[in-house]
Amino acid sequence: MPKLSCPVCGGSLDIPEDALPGELFEHEECGAQLELEVDDQGSRRLKEAEEIAEDWGE
Ligand SMILES: [Zn+2]
Repeated sequence: MPKLSCPVCGGSLDIPEDALPGELFEHEECGAQLELEVDDQGSRRLKEAEEIAEDWGE
């Protein structure tokens, strides 16, 4: 399974090949909530997800 690095602790996570952009993962080692990002070149990375998932609709 492909591994991506955790932006919080620098450890690695297994991310399934079919994971979608915006999908959330929890890094068990540090407890961070991470969001999958895919750029125009199709390269994947993880960013720290917002802790609070607010609904911004008015
Ligand atoms: Zn981590």
